[in-house]
This record gives sequence, C-alpha cells and structure tokens, in this order.
Amino acid sequence: MEGFDPNQVDVRTAHFIHGRLVEEGVGEVPVERPSDGQVYAALPVAGADLVDRAVQDASQAFKASDWSRCAPRERARILRRWADMIEADVQTLARLEAVGSTRPVKDAAAWDVPFTADGIRFFAEWADKIGGDVAATRSDNLGMTIAEPYGVVGAIAPWNLPLVMASWKVAPALAAGNAVVLKPSELTPFSVLRLAELAVAAGVPKGIFNIVQGDGRTTGDALCRHPQVAKMTFTGSTRTGAAIMAACAESGTKPVTLELGGKSPQIVFADAPDLEKTVRTVARAITLNAGQVCVAGSRLIVQRSIAERFIERLAAVFAELQAGPTWDSGASLSPIINRREMQRIDGIVQRGVAAGAEIVAGGRAIPVVGAGAYYQPTILTRVDSAMDAVKNEIFGPVITVQVFDDEDQALALADHPDYGLAAGIHTADIGRAMRLARGIEAGTVWINRYGRSSDYVIPTGGYKRSGIGKDLGRQAFEANLHFKSVLVDFAA
Ligand code: NAD
Repeated sequence: MEGFDPNQVDVRTAHFIHGRLVEEGVGEVPVERPSDGQVYAALPVAGADLVDRAVQDASQAFKASDWSRCAPRERARILRRWADMIEADVQTLARLEAVGSTRPVKDAAAWDVPFTADGIRFFAEWADKIGGDVAATRSDNLGMTIAEPYGVVGAIAPWNLPLVMASWKVAPALAAGNAVVLKPSELTPFSVLRLAELAVAAGVPKGIFNIVQGDGRTTGDALCRHPQVAKMTFTGSTRTGAAIMAACAESGTKPVTLELGGKSPQIVFADAPDLEKTVRTVARAITLNAGQVCVAGSRLIVQRSIAERFIERLAAVFAELQAGPTWDSGASLSPIINRREMQRIDGIVQRGVAAGAEIVAGGRAIPVVGAGAYYQPTILTRVDSAMDAVKNEIFGPVITVQVFDDEDQALALADHPDYGLAAGIHTADIGRAMRLARGIEAGTVWINRYGRSSDYVIPTGGYKRSGIGKDLGRQAFEANLHFKSVLVDFAA
C-alpha cells in the first residue's frame, strides 16, 4: 500500500456505546503520533460513571438482544460478514492504524488488517462447535454440561498491535455469545472505533460491542471492578496483569485471562539448517515493530563455534533496516511508541555497558522526523544473566547475546526465572530440538522458525509470569464460556 499524508486521516476521538460515538469524559489525554511525536488528538477519559453506562448497556443488550440466544450459525454468519467488511475497509483501517501506532502502513495493510479479519473468521467457526457434553451416568439419569456465555466480558488491550490484540480479546468473547466492553490503550485508542462501527454495520446488535476510552488507573480499573463484568481478559505488561488480577479478586473473584510480558530466547546451534536464513529469522524476531512485540526474541543464545560470524551477519542485516514514519511506504524500521519509552530503552542499554556489556551494533537514537522516537537495532555482547538487559523485558530492538558450548548449557541459559512466553530453537537435529522443546518452560516453542503463522488453531499464552490462559486456539474460545451441569432423574 502507498504512503499517505498523516494530516489527511480523519480520526474520530470518542467512546463507542450502543452503536454510537460518545464524546464526553471526566478529562482529556493528549495523544501523540509515534512517528513524529506530534499531538494529533485528544482522548476523552471515561470515568466510573461512563464505564457503568457502557457495562449496563452491554448487559441490557446481552439480555434483550438475540446475540446469546440465536442459532450459533447465525452469530457466526454475522461475524464472518464483519470480517469481510474489515477486509474491504483495508485502506481506511490501515491508515488509521498507521497514523496512531508504530505499525507501518504497508504492514498494516498486508498483515494486521487481514490477520484481524481472518482471526475473527476463525473464532466465528467455533460458534456451533462447542456446546457441552453428555456425561456417563446411570441409564435412568441424564447428565449434561451446557456451555453458556458469561454475559459481559471486559477486555483491556495494549498499544503494540492495536487492531490485532483487540480482536484476539473481542472475537472469541463475541463468538461465544457474550457482550464485550473493550478498553484500548490510551496510547493507540482510535483504530478500534472503526472495527466497532463495522461490527454494528455487519449486524452485531447495538450494545454487544462497546468501547470505553481512557487510562488504566481510571477507566481500566473501573472496568475490572464493575460488578456486572463477569470475566476479564487482558493483554499487557506483567505488572499491570497483577494489578488487574488483584482488582478482579477484590470485586467478586471474577475469572481473568492474562497475556503478559516475555523475555524470549532464540537458541542457534552450529548445525542450524541454513545459517543465512536463520540470521534473517533472528533479526526479524527482534526488529519487527522495533522489538515492541510480546514474543520478541530478545535473547540470542548461540553456539560458540559460529558465534562470531553469526553476530557479524546479524549486524549487517540490522544495518539494512531503514527507520521511517509509519506513513512512508519505504520504511522498514518502526518508531518506538514515544520518547519516554525510548529513553527507558536507551537507559537499559547504557547501564548494561556500564556493567561491562559491549555494543556491537546500534546503541543510539536515530533522528528521523520531528519528535519521533527511533532506536537503532542493537546487539549487546559480554552480558550476564544478572544484567537488566538480560533479565527484564526491554520492548525495543535490543538483542543480548550469550554463548554456549553444549545442549545443557543452552537449556540453562534459555531458562528465565520469571518469563516463559516463547522460545526459538534452530538446529538440524530433530532429537535435540525436541529435547529442548520439552525442557524449555515456555507457552510456545518454534523450531527452525520464529513467529506466528496464520494457524489460529495453535494457541498462544505464557508460562510463569508471562500469563494465565490462552489467546487463539480452541482454548481462547472455551475461556469465554462457563459450563453448567444438569442432571435429570427419569427413573420410573
Ligand atoms: P500496559 O500493561 O502498560 O498497559 C496495557 C493496558 O492496561 C492499557 O490499556 C492500559 O491502559 C491498561 N492498564 C494499565 N494499568 C491498569 C490498571 N491498573 N487497571 C486496568 N488497566 C490498566 O502494557 P502496554 O505497555 O500497553 O503493552 C506492552 C506490554 O504488553 C508488554 O509487556 C508486552 O509484552 C505485553 N504484551 C503481551 C502480549 C501477549 O500475548 N502475551 C501481547 C502483546 C503485548
């Protein structure tokens, strides 16, 4: 898709309640374009009263509309129509996504928008596949479990892939027959409004998909604590996940799905099938969206015999990337979400250096346009596991390198005390790959690849402090249902 003029994009700044844009709030937050740091809109913040109105509306729609009661195939048909409309709207959606986030317009058009639409189709297909079970009981009894939607599901999304992340929360909840109130990130709040408008146009009843805007402490917390929110689903940092879990416990022990942070290793053995291809895979895993991806492969663990050559090639691939605004179709490196985050990233790199690490590539901000924040893809060697850069999620284009001699050492280095989101293993030895896949404590392991495919049936989620529950897969659909047991006695 072609580049565009960011000042020509018509951005709506509102909540979305009962099928309408609503503009009131208890305050306003300025919203910046990550690409040039310009404030381009003001976000209305929903206080507890407006959150209450949105949840009440969703609850009413859940009870009064046919959404949860209709034939599941009818629900699926509407969701599929929604997906078709999203795809047809790719030009508008991709620009809305690009102008306000770190997603380059050509990627948003080629991947984010179609991936969002297709993910919705995937969940629509589950609507009539899971209804419950008949239990093995006495022959004069009939025992059943009946799958039922919760009612109102509250969803909170992060800023890094606004459309895709929101759809992973919203689509399974809707497909299971729930109503949803979504709070997007206050940093990237607007593109999902278009999704909601299209949902209503496709036939999702008004009130079944509402959006409240605002920050976490005001709007997010009010949503978690609302008594009529029966379940929460969240994607974001581990620290916020813990706050949300506490709020859910304090307000009625409601169930919560948490997709949290990561510090994922990429292990490369000397016998990796195609070294040049592996270099490119490793590079992409840490530079995609400038490393602002939950599953970013931020720790390279490489066998000693190839380490030097591998690092050299990695630096060369990093140097090919061209930082540029998201509306420039020639750019291949995304901006960082804002300058504050970039300074935090740089702080971790510089502290690493002060502690003995060496910068082999990058290590600096790149001036590109206005107050946009761009950071060079960075390789840090001579690190140890106690350093900030190896321990903590950086959420930027920074990869640390640790060297190993044998399989046991590789496994020990890959293990992280807190995180367990994803891992990559590159080797031609399938036995070794499988031993490591079994040994690594992570929710997803990729062998001779890194990153998702469009196999939505494969769930994603974290071990350890990287999360609870799954997005995608059958599991994500089932997590939006609870199961009622019914036992009938028809003995004469
Ligand atoms: P964040 O935790 O700062 O914010 C996420 C959302 O939570 C935002 O909408 C925010 O407004 C809201 N929030 C903040 N405090 C809150 C509170 N007290 N109560 C309720 N809501 C609150 O995360 P972020 O910076 O937007 O996103 C980056 C993080 O998300 C990274 O850690 C990344 O790894 C993680 N992430 C994980 C996955 C996954 O699938 N595991 C996917 C994408 C991002």
